Amino acid sequence: MDRAADDFDVVIAGGGMAGATLALALAQARLRVAVVDATAPETRVAPTFDGRTSAVAFANFRQWRALGLGDTLSAQAQPITEILITDGPNPGARRGAPSPTFLHFDVDEVAAEIGGDPLGWVLENRYIRSALNVALGETDVATLIGVVDAVSQAPTGATVTLRDGRTLRAAIVVGADGRASRVRAASGIGVQGWGYRQAGVSTTLALERPHGGVAHQHFLPGGPLAILPLVGDASAEHRASLVWTEQSDRADALIAASPQAFEAHLARRFGEMLGAPHLIGPRISYPLRLQVADRIIGVRTALIGDAAHVIHPIAGQGLNLGLKDVGALAQVLIDAARIGEDIGSPMVLDRYARWRRFDGAGLAIATDLLNRLFSNDAPPVRIARDLGLAAVNRMPTLRRLFMREAGAGLGDLPQLLLGERP
Ligand SMILES: Cc1cc2nc3c(=O)[nH]c(=O)nc-3n(C[C@H](O)[C@H](O)[C@H](O)COP(=O)(O)OP(=O)(O)OC[C@H]3O[C@@H](n4cnc5c(N)ncnc54)[C@H](O)[C@@H]3O)c2cc1C
Repeated sequence: MDRAADDFDVVIAGGGMAGATLALALAQARLRVAVVDATAPETRVAPTFDGRTSAVAFANFRQWRALGLGDTLSAQAQPITEILITDGPNPGARRGAPSPTFLHFDVDEVAAEIGGDPLGWVLENRYIRSALNVALGETDVATLIGVVDAVSQAPTGATVTLRDGRTLRAAIVVGADGRASRVRAASGIGVQGWGYRQAGVSTTLALERPHGGVAHQHFLPGGPLAILPLVGDASAEHRASLVWTEQSDRADALIAASPQAFEAHLARRFGEMLGAPHLIGPRISYPLRLQVADRIIGVRTALIGDAAHVIHPIAGQGLNLGLKDVGALAQVLIDAARIGEDIGSPMVLDRYARWRRFDGAGLAIATDLLNRLFSNDAPPVRIARDLGLAAVNRMPTLRRLFMREAGAGLGDLPQLLLGERP
């Protein structure tokens, strides 16, 4: 295509974890990249901006290692050694306390298959963002603070206009701008989905006892309560991240409650397994929805991450899905650039769309079903799901399959997810 001097190969709208990872992968392969984000990088690493953590599948962590982030992230990454899933409350248990374990994933079962890595790692989002910012600072990526306002696509290239009037031209624009993606709207791509009338209340806890690397998922009628192990730091030796899903009005009450009332309520819900929990982080509530874009490509446009699909956090897979988009799109664009193809052409973009066609929609449906099945206290539903969990627990092959799927290690994996640079 005909280029002006200030053109880029790729303009990425949104420098969240998906957009920044893509920028790094493309820049390391010598593509000319600009990332535009509405918020300054320093703001995005503050604990009050995003108090969440992410359970990151082993294959996606391998991708970050391949991009050179391994050393920085490893210091903050807690390996998941076991996953314990409990369903409750059940008859006979103290009201509100967890019932006995129904499903248990022991990471040793798949360790050999995945090269000795744990199934996944838990990292605070602010550390991931910070590591990505530092790594991007060592590349030629142009990092702009600004709001993407309009995108116009022509067969010859895309033009991105920021709210302050600046314009950027590129062969392709990538929408990594989250659930309310401007790029998606500007491309005329619709979405399907609905709100869950649930919110995920996220915070950080100090625990009385060591967590031993165990990730807990405890199903309650209002939604799942997840306690993910974190590495200790100066604030507490035994730390964990909490995502407590509740109906929206109850989530508001959890945010408004005094710290003491919140802690007491949590201890009643979760039981005594890890001792009394203490709040050491801000409580932030995230409204939950399911949203899948009708298409993930448009004219000179590709969508990744939450711009393409927003799913229930019940299985901790939203970012993982986005990082798989990154691996696939990076490989498609880098391969095309190497052989001199126009990286924004329909033929190239179609390869990305075909690669990622089923994953996003498939996981959206699966997590939606899981949420319907588990955020439900009707006795017949509870009996059926408990029988299902007990059956899976007795089937090692099926358990291993679930673990490999959760580790993003199944299917036709992009090179980056195999730990190789394209
Ligand atoms: C409670 C909760 C817990 C979760 N836990 C997990 C987990 O354990 N594991 C997991 O894999 N996933 C998890 N997720 C999902 C995960 O957090 C998201 O999928 C992920 O953060 C999406 O990243 P992203 O980069 O695609 O989008 P975002 O993080 O939304 O980033 C979008 C970026 O685009 C910028 N932007 C938006 N509009 C514009 C514009 N017009 N112009 C310029 N910039 C713009 C924003 O400032 C932002 O920086 C969880 C989600 C929730 C709600």
